[in-house]
Amino acid sequence: MQSTYDIDYEDMYSRGFRGILFDIDNTLVGHNAPQDDRSMALLKRLGEIGYKCAVVSNNGYERVSSFADPAGMFYVYKAGKPLGRGYRQAIEDMGLKPDEVFCVGDQIFTDVWGANRAGLMNILVKPLGRDIGLHIYLKRIIEKPIMLMVVLGNKRRIQKFMRNSESDDHVRQ
Ligand SMILES: [Mg+2]
Repeated sequence: MQSTYDIDYEDMYSRGFRGILFDIDNTLVGHNAPQDDRSMALLKRLGEIGYKCAVVSNNGYERVSSFADPAGMFYVYKAGKPLGRGYRQAIEDMGLKPDEVFCVGDQIFTDVWGANRAGLMNILVKPLGRDIGLHIYLKRIIEKPIMLMVVLGNKRRIQKFMRNSESDDHVRQ
């Protein structure tokens, strides 16, 4: 799995994406870490590509605004992920359409589930740094078999698709 810093953002832009909704903790910086040089450099580069960037976070006003403001990002705090409303709010603030944005986050139960509920393209990234907090640790343990199920489910769907397209070929012949 790739980190936030390995995503091919130019490629995503060429596919029509114009906005990015980021999680903060363990996605752009470590858990509870302040805005830093690496994150600022990435966000500056994204702006130069032509993206609008937002953070959608379940954290409170202080944490989220102090992170987003120095980078000139849009932000939604106390976003209520995995509910979809925080994502919809950010998209509206950015003046974009849902199919023009994608989400980047490190947690299945908040970031991926939330983005899916809002019907948005999303990229699950490898968490930065070490997790803090038992609830996050427990979530990670629960996530492992679910991730496996998602991977296997995709594989099965692809196999089924291949089989179906093969049998279509036979019909045509
Ligand atoms: Mg996170």
